[in-house]
Amino acid sequence: MDPLPPGLYIVATPIGNLGDLSTRARDVLARADLVAVEDSRVTGGLLHHLGLKRPMQPYHDHNADQVRPGLVARLAREAVALVSDAGTPLISDPGYKLVRDARAAGHAVVTIPGPCAAVAALTLAGLPTDRFLFLGFLPSKAGARAAAIAEVASVRATLVLYESGPRLAACLSALAEGLGDREAAVTREITKKFEEAVTGTLSVLAARYADAAPKGEIVVVVAPPGEPAAASAEDADAALAEALTRLPVTKAAGEVAKRLGLDRRLLYARALTLKAATPD
Ligand code: SAM
Repeated sequence: MDPLPPGLYIVATPIGNLGDLSTRARDVLARADLVAVEDSRVTGGLLHHLGLKRPMQPYHDHNADQVRPGLVARLAREAVALVSDAGTPLISDPGYKLVRDARAAGHAVVTIPGPCAAVAALTLAGLPTDRFLFLGFLPSKAGARAAAIAEVASVRATLVLYESGPRLAACLSALAEGLGDREAAVTREITKKFEEAVTGTLSVLAARYADAAPKGEIVVVVAPPGEPAAASAEDADAALAEALTRLPVTKAAGEVAKRLGLDRRLLYARALTLKAATPD
């Protein structure tokens, strides 16, 4: 087997079904000089399943700052594969600083893409995928979680977040509270035997899981906000009447059109009517 050129190889591994490991991922793991792992028992199990034996170096949140310089130095001569326990490294997992420092030191960085729970959940949820925002794990404390939700309430994109079974119901209630009762999907155990996607509004899903925390791994997907309700004719008249007390007709129509998202020409015509009906 030819050695790999030196550099950092970011290797995605399965999120449940071992059949999802790509041929290329297996090849890189087989040829790497070193595998940087979150947990050597987890990756040891994967390597064993693949019939491989490679040296491993733990690289996780608690030792990353100490271990990183040594790993970066090795990239000059060696091929180091970075894996996480499951899925794509760097996605709610360690690795971005290693990539940053490897690049800064002029080493090659290569990605071997593959399973990622967030993207897999999007493919199951049946919600818009043209724009999505990945939120990772929301804070567990209620106040910080509500603040994080408020921050994204007006974002016109599908939201994707990781959550645990015991916290799921509280998280869904907080989402319903902060975002309004949008459509959502709770996807669970993706690629495993009991894979499922349960859809419904956030409040219906919160009620469903309130007394029955689900087991296994979970991704929540939430629909984008709906179109804002069109302003009623009365709203438009009230806004125009007020604007006409301050502005000439053209400017009043322009201001109200912008504020309420209505047609400027129609508002101009209506403003003329209102003005004509108003005693001087
Ligand atoms: N880097 C990983 C990836 O690419 O998806 C994510 C790592 S993050 C620490 C772990 C979280 O991902 C879990 O708590 C769960 O929310 C989600 N997850 C991982 N595997 C999953 C699966 N098979 N089904 C549903 N969610 C999963």
